[in-house]
Amino acid sequence: MAHLIQSIQEMNSVSKGFQVKGYSIALVPTMGALHMGHRMLMRRGRSLADQLVVSIFLNPLQFSPSEDIDRYPSNLEKDLEICEAEGVDVVFAPKVQDVYQPDASCFVAEEGLSQFLEGRSRPTHFRGVTTIVAKLFNLVEPDVAIFGQKDYQQYCIIRRMIRDLNYPIELIMAPTVREPDGLALSSRNQYLSHEERKQATCLRTALLWVEKQVEQGNLDTAVLRQAIEEQIAQHDLVETDYIAFVNRFTLEDLVRVQPEQTLLALAAYVGRTRLIDNIIL
Ligand code: AMP
Repeated sequence: MAHLIQSIQEMNSVSKGFQVKGYSIALVPTMGALHMGHRMLMRRGRSLADQLVVSIFLNPLQFSPSEDIDRYPSNLEKDLEICEAEGVDVVFAPKVQDVYQPDASCFVAEEGLSQFLEGRSRPTHFRGVTTIVAKLFNLVEPDVAIFGQKDYQQYCIIRRMIRDLNYPIELIMAPTVREPDGLALSSRNQYLSHEERKQATCLRTALLWVEKQVEQGNLDTAVLRQAIEEQIAQHDLVETDYIAFVNRFTLEDLVRVQPEQTLLALAAYVGRTRLIDNIIL
């Protein structure tokens, strides 16, 4: 039976207890509304450590006032069933008021990689992410933490935080899990209407089209970007936010695709819903 913990103190003492017994701990941080993408991270964690902790916390700090956090889907009961089915040992679901004191004034910010890609469109987002993940690392003290490739920039930033703040934690990136038609699973997909859902597949189609072009030696990123921008623009419910070809380690823009080194990342609004996806070329 997965043990539901809502108290911060209890989470920390349970983790300390695991350590005393010599158990290794894997952590999978989530915001709930769990789907197969999250489940694959859990399976990876299950295979890597003695104790698997999944956190479920809808983190207000990573949403801007214009992003409607109240609209984000949440169903703790269903999430608990999923965790149970995946053999999770501890579900850590703290309350917002316990995580953030009303007069909190210490935050964790990564100031380099956060400026690119998502950071341009969502300037306060990653400060919220690094702050909550640092708190989870401090409380759970995992040996290994698992994140998804779907949020590739987030993974890079957490990797940098682990290095720069000396967390003794191994970081694992798990591949993006997709619907049969290629759409990356996301809790936000629930917002899509039937027609939006159909048109949303154009994002994955664009990524795969570029992959093929690169295989054929077409490496000029300006040409490739314009081509997929036009392909996506043929879908009236989809509006591109950004399409970026960047070095996958530094996240800096590239004028030519460097095979194995290049991340193609995109963000688009499908109706009112903002979706992201990426591919390593
Ligand atoms: P979220 O609940 O959206 O904050 O995501 C929690 C974790 O699940 C993050 O590490 C995400 O990258 C990961 N994740 C979300 N969607 C997917 C997916 N489709 N495939 C793999 N990992 C995912």
